Amino acid sequence: MTPSSNRQDFGEFDSPLFRQAVAQFDAVQERTGIDPGALERLRFPKRTAIVTVPVKMDNGETRVFFGYRVQHSLTSGPGKGGLRYHPRVNLGEVSGLALLMGWKCGLIGLPFGGAKGGVNCDPTELSQRELEKITRRFTMEMIPFIGPDIDVMAPDMGTDEQVMAWIYDTYSMQVGYNVPRIVTGKSVELSGTKGRREATGRGVVYCIEEAAARLNIPLNSSRAVVQGFGNVGSVTTQEIALRGTRVVAVSDVRGAVYNPNGLDIAKLTNHVRSTGSVQGFAESEPIDPEEMLLLECEFLVPAALERVVHKDNAGHLRCRVLAEAANGPTTVEADRILKENDGVLVIPDILCNAGGVTVSYFEWVQDIQMFFWDEEEVNQRLKRIMSDTFRACYDVSIAEKTDLRTAALTLGIRRVASRKAMRGLFP
Ligand code: GLU
Repeated sequence: MTPSSNRQDFGEFDSPLFRQAVAQFDAVQERTGIDPGALERLRFPKRTAIVTVPVKMDNGETRVFFGYRVQHSLTSGPGKGGLRYHPRVNLGEVSGLALLMGWKCGLIGLPFGGAKGGVNCDPTELSQRELEKITRRFTMEMIPFIGPDIDVMAPDMGTDEQVMAWIYDTYSMQVGYNVPRIVTGKSVELSGTKGRREATGRGVVYCIEEAAARLNIPLNSSRAVVQGFGNVGSVTTQEIALRGTRVVAVSDVRGAVYNPNGLDIAKLTNHVRSTGSVQGFAESEPIDPEEMLLLECEFLVPAALERVVHKDNAGHLRCRVLAEAANGPTTVEADRILKENDGVLVIPDILCNAGGVTVSYFEWVQDIQMFFWDEEEVNQRLKRIMSDTFRACYDVSIAEKTDLRTAALTLGIRRVASRKAMRGLFP
């Protein structure tokens, strides 16, 4: 069957990240064994909403922000995925991230379709009041497009538990009753789940443990380098340090710090709490953040922006494992270079950072039942799911003599596409 759309035409969705997501999808289509006709629609989102968000700023000026929500598929359940506040947010970026969310939910086997949203703004330059106004107005504009059985948001870059609380409140006020299930990643006091805040970082480290066991790398005599010290990066750093791994370098938007003997993570965390950045941490020396990625180490963890491993640095990485805690940190060209280099095992984003959405699912389930689990139960279930999924991907990669990304994408896409194919095309 010949796909009808022009395969090079990305239309409104065109952006580097969307192209990257589609290239990854196209590369594994044949392996899924699914009819190309059923796959064709999945190259693009099911539907998107773009809204304008007018806000009276603290200085009395009115500014208009652009907000986006993209639902890649609703075949397996409500859309699920984060809401990002960042100056680079646009339709193309959010759409690429929605595709990745789709494969991630498919890979884990969650009853959700992929979705993603964002507001184009710089949260570091906004007051809490302005952030609240943006969030509430964005939520109002999105009311016809979201719902606990339609599309459920969660924190992503630049958003947190407070932003989720405002969305929860705005939505509930609007419909007239309490709907905690409208978002996940809420604080525990507001019907969130224990262990959600730490879930993504913990999941990253569970994957690292699985990879290390297969490569015979003892965690307690290894080195890690972590790019990004937000929610995901900081928890990953703490969790891996607990296992005896030396975290030799960490970066954030302002700079990077290095200590070959290992950074004291508790002290670094306190330093970040009081200064807002890793920069200037006493027991370390500054290092160029780009050079930091090229340090010799066992585990390199990009936990910040996308496309940070690219064709110019991919061939110079000196890690054994590249654990993609961020979404889309490796470009297609870089991926090709890494595939040729047997020395680096890449744990792909849709596997490596799936702990967050997995515990979001636990939160959604607990909110349906209004019956809450203890943290041990959350962590045990998370660990089992992450380890089983890693094993499934690893086994496919060995059986089909391919890399872990190809294996993970094949499993994730096959799950989404086969459900679509079974349900059939409407009308
Ligand atoms: N933003 C996270 C992600 O990219 C979590 C999404 C969620 O919990 O729904 O996976």
